[in-house]
Amino acid sequence: MQFRKATPEERKRFYQEEWNKHEIPDFIQQTLSLREFGFDPDGSGPNQRYRQFFTLEQLSSYLKSNFPFSVYVSVALYEQPSRRAGWIKSELAFDVDAKDLPVKPCSCGQGEVCECCLEEARRVVMLLSDVLSSDLGLRDLRFSYSGRGFHLRVLDEAVSKLEQNERAQLVSYVTGSVIPTDLSFVLGYSKVFREFAARTLERLSEEKLKEVFPKLAQRIQEKKREVLEALRRGRREEIKRLVGKEEKLLEFLAKLNAGWVDGRVTVDVKRILRLPSTLHSGVSMKCVPIRDIENFSLDQAIPKFILEG
Ligand SMILES: [Zn+2]
Repeated sequence: MQFRKATPEERKRFYQEEWNKHEIPDFIQQTLSLREFGFDPDGSGPNQRYRQFFTLEQLSSYLKSNFPFSVYVSVALYEQPSRRAGWIKSELAFDVDAKDLPVKPCSCGQGEVCECCLEEARRVVMLLSDVLSSDLGLRDLRFSYSGRGFHLRVLDEAVSKLEQNERAQLVSYVTGSVIPTDLSFVLGYSKVFREFAARTLERLSEEKLKEVFPKLAQRIQEKKREVLEALRRGRREEIKRLVGKEEKLLEFLAKLNAGWVDGRVTVDVKRILRLPSTLHSGVSMKCVPIRDIENFSLDQAIPKFILEG
């Protein structure tokens, strides 16, 4: 994968020859006129907002004649999208961005992504969906590849009217970013916390540990396998015996856990997210809706101008 910027000619070719309006997910097509659209015309940022389209044809002809750098759509439905007024409801959205993972499995620098961290992001989004469906009973989950990571939209009515602070609580729950009162409880939140904390610790480098535990980092690293085992079983006393400051370690892991998703996206009921089917011009990848997240491969997101040159 090259993950390079698309030229204006390539964007034009994409929207005029490859893009298909029917690839926009049904749940967006059906509510198109109630959503706010936003555009980044040239890579300078999504500065054209408050756009409304009444039909798919209108949107289609706009994209074909303007071939914007990026296209966004609101998670919210409004009575008057062009004024962002008369809020009706919002999808509950989660954004797992490979470039912002709290611990990286690769050597990507700031703002970069590779196949390895994208795969990590895919696994995190699967974990989230598991918690949302098994623990919270949510059913209508829609995935998309965003170009640099994954979006998960929950459409269930049960969450569509939630406000900012309630959404913030859900982020904390599904990422395990608060230490549970009983670490060993077999199911529910304790289990979510243990799973995410173990995932985070497993991937932590000694270097990163040193930032918070200058003296203990080496010992934690040496005993990692045993600490992980104790963490997975919820044995707090055992963690304490192995490395001492167990409270501080759990706090550190909880804080890092919060970073697996971009919480600002989830709490913002007026957020705009990349429109599935359109082009992420920063990396020349298609933002695609995903039916089967378990078997998703990046090949499904490569535009023709990259494949065919
Ligand atoms: Zn990477």
